[in-house]
Amino acid sequence: MSAPLYLAVLGKPAFHSLSPAMHNAVMRKLGIKGVYLSFEVDNFEKAVVGAKELGFRGLNVTLPYKENAYRIADEMSEDVKNVKAANTIYFEENKIKAFNTDIYGFSKAVEKSGFSLQGSSIAVIGAGGASRAIVYSALRTKAKKITIFNRTYEKAEKIKEEMSIFSNQTEIKAETLEKINFEDFDIVVNATNIGWKRENIFDIIGTYPKPRKKMKNTLFFDTIYIPTEFLRVSRSLGYSVQDGRWMLVLQGAMSFKIWTSIYPEERIMFRALTRGMKQL
Ligand code: NAP
Repeated sequence: MSAPLYLAVLGKPAFHSLSPAMHNAVMRKLGIKGVYLSFEVDNFEKAVVGAKELGFRGLNVTLPYKENAYRIADEMSEDVKNVKAANTIYFEENKIKAFNTDIYGFSKAVEKSGFSLQGSSIAVIGAGGASRAIVYSALRTKAKKITIFNRTYEKAEKIKEEMSIFSNQTEIKAETLEKINFEDFDIVVNATNIGWKRENIFDIIGTYPKPRKKMKNTLFFDTIYIPTEFLRVSRSLGYSVQDGRWMLVLQGAMSFKIWTSIYPEERIMFRALTRGMKQL
């Protein structure tokens, strides 16, 4: 009898994660015997070794352990090597292999809105782990210009320094939050935690976009997957918006492909995520 497919997400917190809903829906649809669980862990390294020992096929990794996942890996993709963070672990041939599917998730999610990172000017607000993957994703897809805006300037500067070596075609800058001028960008990304508690990021930054009217269209993209003031206000001013649900689904779909060689139906995951959100 073949072994069940055991998968999980590790983080702290992790019990709120909607990844189990997405992946279990896909396994049901494909008739795969197995389960995707969530674990909140204090000792990430011990938990990874334990999961490997128990016969898990792979793991997703969320806050605050994405850098630990990079450090613990025996082998890693080129992307993980470059961003020094992983959100996917695959146990293969008794090795811990690390991948970063957030990079794919972001660029594909932008495409789903009808925008393209290639040749675009992109503002990335925030300079944490998500920002790093997003900046790298935009660099790899040959964005024209990327500006990282962050409350703590030094963190934006650090990402700029570390990432600029990966492209000589993209201009990359770091700024403090209040320097943002929304009209300068084709795509504005919220990669901060601001919005989960209904805070208005424009009030925190101290400036709002001008109403679109005759101005070019801009995509306001939020990495947060619940409705936020960032998107509500941008939409009301006439701009295109996208929340973080597709990014989450697409990174999950690519993780599933790494573990099983099957790229799942994205809409099955999207529906499961949306259903799961209603129960939060
Ligand atoms: P992180 O490493 O903790 O970074 C948080 C960022 O938010 C930092 O730049 C921080 O600025 C900024 N920030 C937090 N509170 C702030 C405030 N009150 N005022 C100004 N700046 C503030 O977190 P992360 O892992 O990058 O995650 C960021 C967001 O991305 C989260 O909302 C997460 O849910 C989302 N995300 C979504 C997906 C998806 O698939 N949809 C995937 C990954 C992450 P300082 O540097 O100044 O502290």
